[in-house]
Amino acid sequence: MLASLRLLCVLFVAGVGPALAQDAAAPAPAQDTDTLDPTPPGTLNPAPLPPLANPDAPSTPAKQLFGRKPTPFPGPPRSIGSYADGCLAGAAPLPIDGPAWQVMRLSRNRNWGNPALIAVLERIAANAKKVGWNGLLVGDMSQPRGGPMISGHASHQVGLDADIWFTPMPDHVLSREEREFNGAVDMVAADRLDVDPKVWTPTRADLIRTAAQDPEVTRVFVNAAIKKALCREAGTDREWLSKVRPWWGHAEHFHIRIGCPAESSDCKPQPPPDAGDGCGHALDFWFKESTLHPTPPLIPAKPKPALTMAGLPAVCKQIVAAP
Ligand SMILES: [Zn+2]
Repeated sequence: MLASLRLLCVLFVAGVGPALAQDAAAPAPAQDTDTLDPTPPGTLNPAPLPPLANPDAPSTPAKQLFGRKPTPFPGPPRSIGSYADGCLAGAAPLPIDGPAWQVMRLSRNRNWGNPALIAVLERIAANAKKVGWNGLLVGDMSQPRGGPMISGHASHQVGLDADIWFTPMPDHVLSREEREFNGAVDMVAADRLDVDPKVWTPTRADLIRTAAQDPEVTRVFVNAAIKKALCREAGTDREWLSKVRPWWGHAEHFHIRIGCPAESSDCKPQPPPDAGDGCGHALDFWFKESTLHPTPPLIPAKPKPALTMAGLPAVCKQIVAAP
């Protein structure tokens, strides 16, 4: 039964071959499996990574260097470079327990950010409480010195991005075990065409709106099925929807991004998202058969070479090399 279904699927996809070619030409974002972020379980005993044989070799992936720094670079806060190509000095940690948030997966040591991001998270947590959300469960932010990561995320490199779970904070302080092993809930239905009515609630829409309406937030990334639901449920106040962008993954958490802080003169800003609510036909790409079930290429694409220090702003070399 499963085999025949699979065959049917292959035949169907083969039948839309010409459409695939059109997709390739369309200005649609390429799938980035790094951002699918399944929120894997953590560990209670994180082992330090073994030292690198040749840390100074130009071919050493930058993620291997940044992933071995457990502490921030001291000094004033500086977000350097762009969201997917940069590093961070003067990072602050988001405290693991706040009045309206708790940090998950402590073993990853990714609850670091530009202090501007910490302030925004604290504000969103307080505002979310006002719309009936008990508190935020915060997932990955950045590493202590930002930079690329060994697992997950193409962005989150400059301390201006944070992931927030669609699971509300419970009424108790979570144990270490709960923080490492509790799973996040997928909000999207099995067919990926809409939210799952068994788990999606209006309060989750209010939570996203609250985050998007924060003046410092420039983008909020959610699964396209969630964006579709927000478009349907938003009513007449729709301005905030322009900041909510459909992206791969982001079905069990959403991702907030803030703009470059004024004092980070080496931070590369991103152009503001297109005006308009981004609803209706703007979402068509995401629900095409060829997007939902892409045919694997005949020749697998060569994996992208890992980013090295040469691909990052020059000052990041100093930041990662400091003790
Ligand atoms: Zn994220």
